[in-house]
Amino acid sequence: MTLTDDLNRDEKELLDKVIKGDISFHRLDSLTDKETAVRIRRHAVEASSGTSFENIQDHSLNVDEVTKRNIENMIGAVQIPLGVAGPLNVKGEFAKGLYYLPLATTEGALVASVNRGCSVITNSEGTDVRIFQDQMTRAPVFKLDNVVKAKEFAEWVKRPDIFAQMKEKASETTRFGILLDVEPYVTGNTVYLRFSYDTKDAMGMNMVTIATDTLTTLIEDEFGAIPVSLSGNMCIDKKPAAINTILGRGKTVVADVTIPGEIVSKRLKCNPETMVEVNYRKNLLGSARSGALGYNAHAANIIAAMFIACGQDAAHVVEGSTAITTMELTKYGDLYCSVTLPALPVGTVGGGTALGPQTDCLNLLGVKGSGTPPGTNSRKFAEIVASAVLAGEISLVGAQAAGHLARAHAELGR
Ligand code: NAP
Repeated sequence: MTLTDDLNRDEKELLDKVIKGDISFHRLDSLTDKETAVRIRRHAVEASSGTSFENIQDHSLNVDEVTKRNIENMIGAVQIPLGVAGPLNVKGEFAKGLYYLPLATTEGALVASVNRGCSVITNSEGTDVRIFQDQMTRAPVFKLDNVVKAKEFAEWVKRPDIFAQMKEKASETTRFGILLDVEPYVTGNTVYLRFSYDTKDAMGMNMVTIATDTLTTLIEDEFGAIPVSLSGNMCIDKKPAAINTILGRGKTVVADVTIPGEIVSKRLKCNPETMVEVNYRKNLLGSARSGALGYNAHAANIIAAMFIACGQDAAHVVEGSTAITTMELTKYGDLYCSVTLPALPVGTVGGGTALGPQTDCLNLLGVKGSGTPPGTNSRKFAEIVASAVLAGEISLVGAQAAGHLARAHAELGR
């Protein structure tokens, strides 16, 4: 069998044209059905690169759906192993009960580590978790003539009648999104307007981009400020930045637990004092000394694994991982632990949440789709993710306090 035996004569003609460059990868989608376009593109890449794909053609994704919303120039799919940690006892305002956490990763020892943290938390009566703020931001940038005009503009956007007009205009672009606030930031004759929205169950980046686009048109018409870019990087999306850790972006979530001293010694094989010491010198002092934005052990590990499993935008690990982990000794000699995630962008509708395997993972947590009322599913999911991060932090700090880290990786990761 040759590589292209799965193509008929017409499809082979298309393949030849793609290889010669007469038809672009993208145009194939309009010349044949989506499944065939994927096969032809894959063969074209094989022919041009001399590679023979053995794996990427095997997947369960619905090609018609994903090529509409999630991917261009599709040639297949990569798979990532999925593990489960738990049960984790979560005591949130939206997530209440025992959860098995879906974690998609290739890092050996990660799931085992989170699992250990879950067992510690669940045996300590669970984690309390609360959302303190929920807003997605988009910040267009405008050029004004000079600082006098910049100040007039900054005052104009804060006028209640103008804000009401902008809120009304934004609401015409979405059934769910609500404009909550606008904050101007000035640099010389440049003004950034940081718009914040409640995006309910959507992570919201597309939603707020579309709404803000309408607002820039309104602003140009009504005030005459020239929009330079729909995003001026004061939003700020997928770049580590202090503004998101201070003001929040997506969900601002805090989870905590008090672990009895005997559970620390029995399950983590160390003691509360050593864990407080490791957390202080590593997560707090070490992070400060290195200029880190995240004061934690490995929040990114748990966030990345849960985001990939649950169809989140993986690049938002950047904001999500700027977490702060605290550990304190209580007056009874127990260990108080918390994680604060200032900027966790998550959604249970839109983006990659509709893909088959990701739907399974969201269903496992009971958060798939629109909540009743809207917004409750994404908040429930955010509470579970923050609780999972707490589990990961407790386990890793515990391993370092007990001197176990290298041994666990040697046994489980190699
Ligand atoms: P989306 O799929 O673009 O929009 C969410 C959709 O779900 C909207 O059509 C919304 O309705 C609908 N919806 C149904 N039930 C809802 C509910 N309960 N709550 C909220 N919305 C509900 O998703 P998004 O979250 O706005 O954007 C996510 C995507 O943006 C990801 O694919 C991500 O990769 C991408 N992204 C975009 C940018 C950008 O700059 N554009 C940047 C980063 C990432 P309405 O139409 O009525 O609102």
